[in-house]
Amino acid sequence: MTIITGKQYTERIDQLNNEVWIKGERVNGKLSLHPAFSGILKSKSALYDLQHQPETSELLTRTDESGIFNFAFEQPTTIEDLRKRRLATQLWARKSGGTIGRSPDYINTAIMTLGSSHTFFDEPYSKNVQHIFKQAKKKDLSFTHTFINPQVNRSPHYLEFSNDNIIAAKIIDETDEGIIIHGARLLATQGGLTDEILVLPVGGNQIDPAYVYAFAIPSNTPGLKFLCRESYADTTVSKYDHPLTTQFDEVDSIVVFNKVLVPWDRVFLYQDLTAIGKIYTEPSVNILLLFQAVCRQVVKTEFLLGVSEALATMIAITDYQHIQEKISEVIITLEIMQSLLHKAEAEAQLNRFGTMIPDANPLMVASSYYQKTYPRLVEILHLLGASGFISLPTEKDFDSEIGKDLDQYLQAKNAPAKERVQLFRLAWDLTMSSFGSRQTQYERFFFGDPIRLASSLYQSYDKTTYTQQVSNFLHPETKEKN
Ligand SMILES: Cc1cc2nc3c(=O)[nH]c(=O)nc-3n(C[C@H](O)[C@H](O)[C@H](O)COP(=O)(O)OP(=O)(O)OC[C@H]3O[C@@H](n4cnc5c(N)ncnc54)[C@H](O)[C@@H]3O)c2cc1C
Repeated sequence: MTIITGKQYTERIDQLNNEVWIKGERVNGKLSLHPAFSGILKSKSALYDLQHQPETSELLTRTDESGIFNFAFEQPTTIEDLRKRRLATQLWARKSGGTIGRSPDYINTAIMTLGSSHTFFDEPYSKNVQHIFKQAKKKDLSFTHTFINPQVNRSPHYLEFSNDNIIAAKIIDETDEGIIIHGARLLATQGGLTDEILVLPVGGNQIDPAYVYAFAIPSNTPGLKFLCRESYADTTVSKYDHPLTTQFDEVDSIVVFNKVLVPWDRVFLYQDLTAIGKIYTEPSVNILLLFQAVCRQVVKTEFLLGVSEALATMIAITDYQHIQEKISEVIITLEIMQSLLHKAEAEAQLNRFGTMIPDANPLMVASSYYQKTYPRLVEILHLLGASGFISLPTEKDFDSEIGKDLDQYLQAKNAPAKERVQLFRLAWDLTMSSFGSRQTQYERFFFGDPIRLASSLYQSYDKTTYTQQVSNFLHPETKEKN
């Protein structure tokens, strides 16, 4: 059992030589030295290093009879375990103001949940998922993941049948060694920057067994390609200019399987049309992932509140009532998210696999609420800052001949010009730069389509108590008889 250091993590990723494409070129050489990936790899390395530092190691690590391991691989069996898990996730999240969506604990939580629920799967898949979990825990592996088909045709009647013109990744063959997957999947954040990829089935009603599969394979498996979007990190700009982009741009990728052989011992769901409908809910993978996500979103809201208040104070607008009202919207969001998280934790229950599962309802509410509220928090910052989001000279401007003008004309009531611009640049990078816009799109969609998530909350929520109350009110005589 081991916990890796940041150096070990980057060395491992560099050695994998994953097939990563960006701006029309395959990355040859070390990903950690590539301008698109060096920032995020460095930031993730810093997270791994915290596992070894005396002040943080206790919260970020656990031990069992085989040794020390990362907190995300611990199967929570008590509410106290969940509390410690929350604090650990939030400790990592605070290092990026909650802007790294896929810190290693996100998918490692899914791996732990699946591994701890291995009896959900029939043999040999049960043994396989257990092995995948054990290896991940032992080697402190990291995972990207994909569970979406390409966005070709989302009309309700569309089914892809062709075998000559495959788009969505499907099983095209099976051999003694394993299954052959061909086609594409969306949208692996940090694709190519992790040790392995977890491939989960696309939700909804599947009728074609060729699309029913789940597995985890190393990111350097032959035929596996990560086609990245352009990076927002530009090495020509300084950390002062783009304080978040330079450090935390995770890069998202389309995943292409070019006749990839997935060995049998890596497969844990295969053409089982019954299990596919239950793989997320019965082991409670979705709930523990939501728990991680809401822990992070609380941290992100704290960060947004801090930036909003600092910005308003700097230009002395906090005495206006409408400014107070706007910042209180951020406070209200923070308090609601914290309360939902605490309720979920306090009302957790053991599932049939012995895992302590937070209450699903408050987490589903938090997730749906945040999908709609996050864009409003962004809007509030824009309303507070007004043209301050546009008059943003760069660090080089301050160091140039015009620096004196900037010092004079961009000063704020409570700060010199360079300090004021630094704070406004942070607010801009959080909400308005390419990185910031992606953050908004991320919060809207990363856990799924808001419409369908709200619909599943409606469907799963027990409303009978409330309809009964109305019925009792309208027909008290029936109630008395009962
Ligand atoms: C920044 C970012 C990072 C992401 N990272 C990952 C990742 O790491 N791994 C991963 O697997 N996924 C990731 N995703 C994908 C995410 O899970 C999807 O965006 C989400 O599930 C919605 O699917 P879609 O984007 O295909 O939208 P679509 O399903 O194509 O929806 C497009 C629009 O059509 C509507 N629509 C489509 N179908 C229906 C329907 N049946 N009923 C009602 N309305 C419908 C939707 O409401 C929406 O308005 C990421 C997404 C983003 C934006």
